[in-house]
Amino acid sequence: MISRRKFLGRSLIGSLGMLTASQTACQPTPLETSVPVSPIAGEPIVISTWDHGIPANAAAWQRLQQGGSALDAVEAGVMVVEADPNTTTVGYGSTPDRDGHVTLDACIMDHDGNCGSVCFIEHIMHPISVARKVMEDTPHVMLAGEGALQFALSAGFEKMDLLTPEAKERWEKWLVEKQYKPLINIENHDTIGMIAIDGKGHLAASCTTSGLGYKMRGRVGDSPVIGAGLYCDGEVGAVVATGLGEMILKTLGSFLIVELMRQGASPQEACEEGIRRLAKKVKNYEEAQAAFIAIDKNRAFGAYAIHPGFSYAIARGTENQLIRCDSLLKN
Ligand code: ASP
Repeated sequence: MISRRKFLGRSLIGSLGMLTASQTACQPTPLETSVPVSPIAGEPIVISTWDHGIPANAAAWQRLQQGGSALDAVEAGVMVVEADPNTTTVGYGSTPDRDGHVTLDACIMDHDGNCGSVCFIEHIMHPISVARKVMEDTPHVMLAGEGALQFALSAGFEKMDLLTPEAKERWEKWLVEKQYKPLINIENHDTIGMIAIDGKGHLAASCTTSGLGYKMRGRVGDSPVIGAGLYCDGEVGAVVATGLGEMILKTLGSFLIVELMRQGASPQEACEEGIRRLAKKVKNYEEAQAAFIAIDKNRAFGAYAIHPGFSYAIARGTENQLIRCDSLLKN
């Protein structure tokens, strides 16, 4: 539990003051195995999934420094990863479905429970911003496929080809054997999910992904599903998931973890119970990875995964720090 973990100093930690949104390359940051424990009142915190959380956090932090809200921050943060062609699991340059189409899922949720989502959307680099537009400019929560694309185009988003030559080449190699098997902690399970609390104590969450590499056409995972891929309730906390969406959907993990926190569990205890519940309810859970990160309204946070290998990034104060997550299975 985080509350029992030892405080580690700042020596290995990247300085947020030195990171900017344009510095999108994720330098190999030394992993910490434990994190500072004491939340500081009024302090913003940004937490996001996997190693690409470092540049994403930097962009989110910059948005907060410019006076943006937690909602602005979680949008701006994940946009960095959506635009990075070297991230093959989110946005531009990501791995296509088995027919060679890049189809994306994203959602966003604010402190007051407002939320927006797009799924199975093609040709748009920033599905997270389309999701926010769905939330703010429509009476709906979720738009899918062609309808989501039409909405995005009408809102002024640019239509583009998201399949880079490199991703196309990898897909063509994959076509030789056409083997689909979810693997643990490889690039086909690397959603960027982000949760944040701003200086006013407002929470927000975002999540964006291309889902499973070489998935069936039309497959949608947990990431755009409110309650599965993320959940945010300003009275309690915010949670984001990553990993095999088929498993996360079966227990609505993010909603479950927020509800456990509402009942008094710490974010760490709630994430651990969320993973235990998944392990109890999902057959062969040990064959794939899933992980949750959580923060509560008092700025306590936690994370837990099925397998070792999941990392998450925490930005606060002057730090932007990559953390090695604890897991149910130890190796
Ligand atoms: N959760 C995503 C999905 O199943 C994938 C991931 O997080 O890596 O679509």
